[in-house]
Amino acid sequence: MTRRVCDAGEVVRAQVVIIGAGPAGLLLSQLLHLAGIDTIVLERRSRTYVEARVRAGVLEPGTVELLKRAEVSQRMERDALTHDGFRIAFGSGSTRIDLRSLAGAPVTVYGQTEITQDLIAARLSLNGAIVFEAEEVVPLDFSGAKPRVTYRKDGRSHEIACDFIAGCDGSHGVSRACVPAEAISLYEHAVPFGWLGVLSDTPPVGHELIYSRGERGFALCSMRSPARSRTYVQVPVSDSPEQWPDQRFWDELRRRLPKDAAEALITGPSLEKSIAPLRSFVAEPMRFGGLFLAGDAAHIVPPTGAKGLNLAVSDAASLADALIAHYRHGERRPLDTYSESCLKRVWRAVRFSWWFTGLTHRFDEDAFTAKLQLAELEYIAASRAASTMVAENYIGRVK
Ligand SMILES: Cc1cc2nc3c(=O)[nH]c(=O)nc-3n(C[C@H](O)[C@H](O)[C@H](O)COP(=O)(O)OP(=O)(O)OC[C@H]3O[C@@H](n4cnc5c(N)ncnc54)[C@H](O)[C@@H]3O)c2cc1C
Repeated sequence: MTRRVCDAGEVVRAQVVIIGAGPAGLLLSQLLHLAGIDTIVLERRSRTYVEARVRAGVLEPGTVELLKRAEVSQRMERDALTHDGFRIAFGSGSTRIDLRSLAGAPVTVYGQTEITQDLIAARLSLNGAIVFEAEEVVPLDFSGAKPRVTYRKDGRSHEIACDFIAGCDGSHGVSRACVPAEAISLYEHAVPFGWLGVLSDTPPVGHELIYSRGERGFALCSMRSPARSRTYVQVPVSDSPEQWPDQRFWDELRRRLPKDAAEALITGPSLEKSIAPLRSFVAEPMRFGGLFLAGDAAHIVPPTGAKGLNLAVSDAASLADALIAHYRHGERRPLDTYSESCLKRVWRAVRFSWWFTGLTHRFDEDAFTAKLQLAELEYIAASRAASTMVAENYIGRVK
């Protein structure tokens, strides 16, 4: 049951107001709650919508540890898949990146959809305040000592006074947008293609992920469980899912996979189909007085390196630790260094995701790039040092 937040016209107080109930906002709320810090989460969408959203699924070891710390790992520990490595296929070649032997740890495959459901269930079972379908959310006065957030719900206006505001509202949210232009620097790099993703109740092609640099473009065979596949093909960003009936998608995927995987592919009706653009985007800094940005609100990476969700929860944990140090010990330094320390991690992930995208996708009419890609992929296949670089970045354990 959700606790009462406020009646129309009434001003309520919370130590931290969190805008957005994605993985970053929900995890932040849960970690703060466990430390005795009061939060209210304001979410634009309905609970049903948020819990059904299909997105990422590869978790770094650090993310798994954070979900355990947040006491939301029970279902993950029961249902998740552990992957000791993944495969990169290219032309006639193929290499397996052995994460465990090269970087010392596996990755965990567990859907962002499940993580979101686990976090919402945990917040609500602890009587946490999440206001779904909160409209016209506006962070105010965050450069002074008395930040506040206003919103509308069921046609009524509400106001929450707080110490801090956490902008966890994704790339199209209100938090970053309300920062004055002269206070923020934006860095962006886009490519003219996206990923067409299909979720299907079909067994995965193999036990581990297959990243394939096909002559016709990139493809990825991923999964959510032994019975549920998540597969992608590179498509022009201008395409729409309607242009890709299931049969066309499966035919194209098969053409882009190595022979053994193409032969093992089992197809079925799509449960979900969407196109995600591929872009890198970073906003600096990530703090503006009492307003802190976390997750996609501050940065976006192409999904190739499986970093978006992992970065979002890392930001949430860093912000939780800084706020806990502030409330428990009166320390300001962790809050003051939040932006700088997050951005170091963010730029490492941006670099890796950009590099891995450039290595495995087709860039039209660019025969020179294609030759370089193959030379570098052959180098990775032949060199333990080069494979180690990939493995370390993939599991997110680079200091
Ligand atoms: C289609 C798609 C596919 C993706 N696939 C992958 C993948 O395969 N691998 C990977 O690593 N990453 C992937 N990502 C990225 C990954 O899902 C994100 O990095 C992750 O969701 C970031 O979490 P977050 O909590 O920061 O933001 P979000 O998950 O975007 O959550 C933000 C929340 O804020 C809410 N909100 C927005 N505006 C407002 C407002 N004004 N007021 C109140 N609430 C608001 C939103 O409704 C949302 O619930 C994908 C992203 C997309 C969009």
